[in-house]
Amino acid sequence: MKSQKFPIAAVRACAYSDSVSKTHYDIIISGGGMIGSSLACTLGKNTRLSNKRILLLEAGKEKSYSFTGKYSNRVVSLNPATHKLLNDINAWSHIKNSRFAAVKRLQVWDAISDACITFGDENAIEDISYIVENDLLLDAVSKELKNVNNVEVIYNTRAKEYSLPLHNEDKVQITLENGSSITCSLLLGCDGFNSHVRKAMQTQYVTWNYNQMGIVATMELSEEIQNVIAWQRFLPTGPIAFLPLNSKQSSLVWSTVPDEAKKLLQISEAEFVDAINGAMYQTYQHSNIIDTATKIFDNFVRFFNWPVDMSRRYPPKISRIEEGSRAAFPLGFGHAASYISKGVALVGDAAHRIHPLAGQGVNLGFGDIICLNEVLGNAVSCGSVINDLSYLKEYETQRQRYNVPTMLGVDGLYRLYNNDFAPVVLLRSLGLQATHAINPVKDKVIDWAS
Ligand SMILES: Cc1cc2nc3c(=O)[nH]c(=O)nc-3n(C[C@H](O)[C@H](O)[C@H](O)COP(=O)(O)OP(=O)(O)OC[C@H]3O[C@@H](n4cnc5c(N)ncnc54)[C@H](O)[C@@H]3O)c2cc1C
Repeated sequence: MKSQKFPIAAVRACAYSDSVSKTHYDIIISGGGMIGSSLACTLGKNTRLSNKRILLLEAGKEKSYSFTGKYSNRVVSLNPATHKLLNDINAWSHIKNSRFAAVKRLQVWDAISDACITFGDENAIEDISYIVENDLLLDAVSKELKNVNNVEVIYNTRAKEYSLPLHNEDKVQITLENGSSITCSLLLGCDGFNSHVRKAMQTQYVTWNYNQMGIVATMELSEEIQNVIAWQRFLPTGPIAFLPLNSKQSSLVWSTVPDEAKKLLQISEAEFVDAINGAMYQTYQHSNIIDTATKIFDNFVRFFNWPVDMSRRYPPKISRIEEGSRAAFPLGFGHAASYISKGVALVGDAAHRIHPLAGQGVNLGFGDIICLNEVLGNAVSCGSVINDLSYLKEYETQRQRYNVPTMLGVDGLYRLYNNDFAPVVLLRSLGLQATHAINPVKDKVIDWAS
């Protein structure tokens, strides 16, 4: 069967027929965002799962991506592991034929001290990450999904209620908004940070809102450059980042307190451009003690001739923003105590949500996909059922071992930089410089993020 086997018209026509209401799948993926769609494609292409019937259920309409020249304001920075997965499922070929930007260098610096860290080299062959529009990624995966025989896709259909099994051998029952119901052996919840699958599991969920909004926009640079550097400056109100799109444009992710975010959304586009340039260039008052300490550290590094690039560059100036591209999103943290229960597993933002300051949110979800694909393949090759709890447990253990420290690290960074108490600023500045100067530590940071 091909994807789109049940376009909405067909679903509606069959809504009250027994053939649909008794339809059973091996796997149902609820939520066809970047993670759900990529998971469906990955499982569908796993030869060990080729006899499994998979359904992808998405509440929204099928997104079509048109290459109009105008960039979408929603982009993600994809790490090398995510890039490899997209390559393996052939989705990357569609992205490559359209557009993406390779990041070769990353500069992160503090507005209230001289501390700065850089990763990579703009002339290097290796890329640190790839900036891709969310809609393009979804479009590329959807194109590939159409080449997968055992995955069906239904758009415009929301799952209304999940009835989860009490015993291992029971099925999951899903009631759709149109009244029909379907069953499956394994339900994979990819329905985002407000996940109803997670709520049906009744697992504990640790969550808090950062008192911040993430403002995004597509920006035009004042001059054409070799745009391969991603920039992030930690301001007292939150980080501002430029992600390259092409030689003349970059994407903005500016996290700031709600009051400032509200103002930034209301001012004219010209004033907004001034605010962006100001945020990247404005000088903030520094503490003499902290400046002296960071200078001593710099001299120490130079004295020992450590092979470190201590030079700080300045980001490109912005000349205008793409009309109507300004938007804001609430930022929060969330983590499910369990990713699995009988007949169900959570994947992506449904299981974990983090601040975008490290660009890791969707990459954690892609890490889940890689792991779950392997674990389910192993279960089937060993003659187990697809919802075998011991294999699902392996998925949960592996992913929590990676996700929890990463999430706590990102949250810790947020807290460290959301603080202007001098001893904390001193500590973080020296920490940033030490990480920058000691290559093995820096390599570990890169390895962890990729
Ligand atoms: C400002 C900002 C910048 C970011 N930048 C980065 C970055 O640079 N790098 C990075 O890795 N991450 C980044 N992220 C995080 C990233 O966007 C998320 O991690 C990612 O979108 C999560 O994808 P998902 O598919 O898990 O969830 P979602 O994108 O939330 O998708 C969930 C899908 O489920 C569907 N759905 C929901 N309920 C139902 C239902 N009942 N029935 C059927 N379908 C349903 C929805 O329609 C939706 O399509 C950023 C986030 C923000 C806010």
